Amino acid sequence: MNRLQTALAVRRQVQHRTVGVSPMYGVAFCPVCDKQLYHRRNGKHRYYYCQNKHGRNIPADYVEKLVFDTFLEEFGGDKVMEREYVPAENHQIELEAAVRAVEELTPLAGTMTSATMRSRLTEQLRALDFEIARLEKLPAREAGWVYKETDSTFESVWKTSTPEQKRRMVIDKGISARIIKESDSIHFYIETQKIPPRPEDLRGKS
Ligand SMILES: [Zn+2]
Repeated sequence: MNRLQTALAVRRQVQHRTVGVSPMYGVAFCPVCDKQLYHRRNGKHRYYYCQNKHGRNIPADYVEKLVFDTFLEEFGGDKVMEREYVPAENHQIELEAAVRAVEELTPLAGTMTSATMRSRLTEQLRALDFEIARLEKLPAREAGWVYKETDSTFESVWKTSTPEQKRRMVIDKGISARIIKESDSIHFYIETQKIPPRPEDLRGKS
């Protein structure tokens, strides 16, 4: 029940955010002024246009097909990456517990009279010493996101993806299109850059 409510809340939020975002935002540009092409719906028709009035309106389906076909041709067989949250790794609590144990045992050392008890205590302290040394050497890792490869290819998830998800996939692969319609001919230039992700891109802050 609770989980369903959360899922609904998340979905509603996502829908709100994507309303009004052009399906080609960050992807399609005017080759004359290099500005973002704008998306407009006019009744049944959707099209892209340059705000600086370069060229004529370009049918949206044409632009999107051009970009999506390029994407699927180049990257359709690649595996989809998934973002996964990795919690912080901090050994401070274990370290404090070990130090506290040492502090509790140390005063006893002076009160031991039997050799057996003294050697037991020494063993315990030595074990704690090792444990503290081990914990001190472990790196403290900050929480963050990492990307992991999934079993699905872009091709296999394409049909069930939303326009916004498709836009993200296209942008992630560095695809951009310069496109203009003059008279009745459409000129375009598509760039794709397969840039390997940098570590700082993969590990954002939480
Ligand atoms: Zn322009």
